[in-house]
Amino acid sequence: MKIGIIAYQGSFEEHYLQLKRAFDKLSINGEITPVKIPKDLKDIDGVIIPGGESTTIGLVAKRLGILDELKEKITSGLPVMGTCAGAIMLAKEVSDAKVGKTSQPLIGAMNISIIRNYYGRQRESFEAIIDLSKIGKGKANVVFIRAPAITKVWGKAQSLAELNGVTVLAEENNILATTFHPELSDTTSIHEYFLHLVKG
Ligand code: GLN
Repeated sequence: MKIGIIAYQGSFEEHYLQLKRAFDKLSINGEITPVKIPKDLKDIDGVIIPGGESTTIGLVAKRLGILDELKEKITSGLPVMGTCAGAIMLAKEVSDAKVGKTSQPLIGAMNISIIRNYYGRQRESFEAIIDLSKIGKGKANVVFIRAPAITKVWGKAQSLAELNGVTVLAEENNILATTFHPELSDTTSIHEYFLHLVKG
């Protein structure tokens, strides 16, 4: 199994380490490869879009010509996990808590509506315990950093975990989105769940 991680900016190194832990836990002999340009998408079985700054990730991805190809691959079934900024990249509807409409480059493959910076600025970042029973896991302490909120899910998309009534984890077929940072957690639950999606 080969998993690609979009590696321009943000927490791609932390994802690498967490994914390695999840591979070990599930006894998967997996390979991890950084993804920057279209040819890096060749032969991967799944892809992770990390947290960071979605405007930057989107602009770089567009400039390097990978955005459309990513969208095409995801729409035709490539398993993807987008965390925080990565979830923003995946959403079909995105707005910003402060400025409203945004026109940033997106993948736009998932039937969810996202509000960026929903909880406020960097200093309003926080940790919280969420219930992962809908994905067959226990409670987990997770980190929200200038996090967005998933405010609407429709079509085949479904909410898998909430915090105070707001969706923090959503899934639509081969697409998984978290508004928190699973790569910074003590538990590898979310990465393990993603690997189950990849295995099919
Ligand atoms: N606020 C960032 C954005 O809108 C996301 C923050 C994060 O990924 N931790 O892109």
